Amino acid sequence: MDLTYSTKHQKLQHEIRTFIEKYGHLSPRFGGGRKKPDEKDLHWQKLLLERGYFARTVPVEYGGFGAEPDVLETAIIANELSLAGVSPGLLNQGNLIVVPPMLELGTQEQCKEWVPRTLTGEIIWCIGNSEPGSGSDMANAQTKAVVEGDEFVINGQKIWTSSAHYADMMFLLCRTEPEAPKHKGLSYLMVPMTTKGIEVRPLVTMTERPEFNETFLTDVRVPTDQIVMQRGDGWKVAISSLKHERLMLGDPNKQLQRFQSILKLMRESEINGKRLIDHPAYRDRLAKLQAEVLAAKFHNMRLTSIENSGRESGVTGLVVKYFGTLLNHKLSALAVDILGEAGLPYDPHEVAEDDIQTTWQIDYMYDIGLIIGGGTSQIQKNIISERGLGMPKEKVPAK
Ligand SMILES: Cc1cc2nc3c(=O)[nH]c(=O)nc-3n(C[C@H](O)[C@H](O)[C@H](O)COP(=O)(O)OP(=O)(O)OC[C@H]3O[C@@H](n4cnc5c(N)ncnc54)[C@H](O)[C@@H]3O)c2cc1C
Repeated sequence: MDLTYSTKHQKLQHEIRTFIEKYGHLSPRFGGGRKKPDEKDLHWQKLLLERGYFARTVPVEYGGFGAEPDVLETAIIANELSLAGVSPGLLNQGNLIVVPPMLELGTQEQCKEWVPRTLTGEIIWCIGNSEPGSGSDMANAQTKAVVEGDEFVINGQKIWTSSAHYADMMFLLCRTEPEAPKHKGLSYLMVPMTTKGIEVRPLVTMTERPEFNETFLTDVRVPTDQIVMQRGDGWKVAISSLKHERLMLGDPNKQLQRFQSILKLMRESEINGKRLIDHPAYRDRLAKLQAEVLAAKFHNMRLTSIENSGRESGVTGLVVKYFGTLLNHKLSALAVDILGEAGLPYDPHEVAEDDIQTTWQIDYMYDIGLIIGGGTSQIQKNIISERGLGMPKEKVPAK
């Protein structure tokens, strides 16, 4: 990986800096999927898409910018947006978990129909993988979809469905071939959330806000062409989508952005007339976290480089989720600590995502969930050790 900027890269860097100078004040604080995008989010997303600072390599006919993959361009965009503290765009489940497998495995018609409106934020997706009896063991999904004429009839229950209370579509994992072996009997269906028979019951997390849901599906009917790949190919889709979900959850640019905010906070806040940045205990914690943030950033560039050359990233990619979600939590823990008393008052009903003090508290609580969501840290460690490092497989309990 050559990290020297060519003239083309220097030009891009200058172009983004000029863009941020002119439009940076229009950025929302968050690019994530913790709330339904509002007008400010959607407008910012449009500005990023028009300039290729989001969906840069997605083909133009699917609403992207159509650029050739370039590891340094990707890194420059992420770096400049992070350093300026502006949003990298709508990093929601649709853009990061549904779009990549659809581009990889969906038909042209499906890409044309769903990708452009997902990129702009017009369509919000939720992910229906987990069930009461299948979380870590996702392939054990029992929600059934049976073909009747030209429709699937779906019955079952999903749980922990983030955003289902305001999503337009669900990317639903279900069992279509009950006779086939566990991993070969699954399919992914695209289900409009307004379809008759879907009931969404919000679940309140420790942030005291309803962030995910129980979703009940009773005789829900969708046309048979609302399937990604073929019946029984669901596990192939799951592997592709999980890979992107894990990269999203551990995204190092989010950590870089958080680090920058904490650095600012520590430079501007004082205890007994001494800046927090000059306080040895806090400074030490910050320096250790800076090393981890930079390690994550360079690891990510190595990963992008592997992916762009068409090779499989394997265990290199798996490390991102494990390391990144723990690091996010350590960063928000430092922020809550340095806020001191100011970090304590919290009223979930009056929360503004733009209120820096309250947001750190939400991050601190929500980040614990992300160490679990998308595959727990224990499961990541199992996969990294068994498939990546070739260690002996975990013993399967006797039947
Ligand atoms: C904030 C958040 C958002 C989420 N959003 C979504 C969403 O949008 N859509 C969706 O479908 N799901 C979502 N989930 C669900 C998430 O994917 C599951 O919680 C996760 O996969 C773990 O499954 P489980 O909760 O059933 O725990 P279980 O699988 O029951 O695991 C319980 C405990 O046992 C451990 N364990 C299990 N098996 C092993 C093993 N083989 N070796 C070692 N330890 C093991 C686990 O690490 C864990 O600590 C979300 C979860 C969270 C926390």
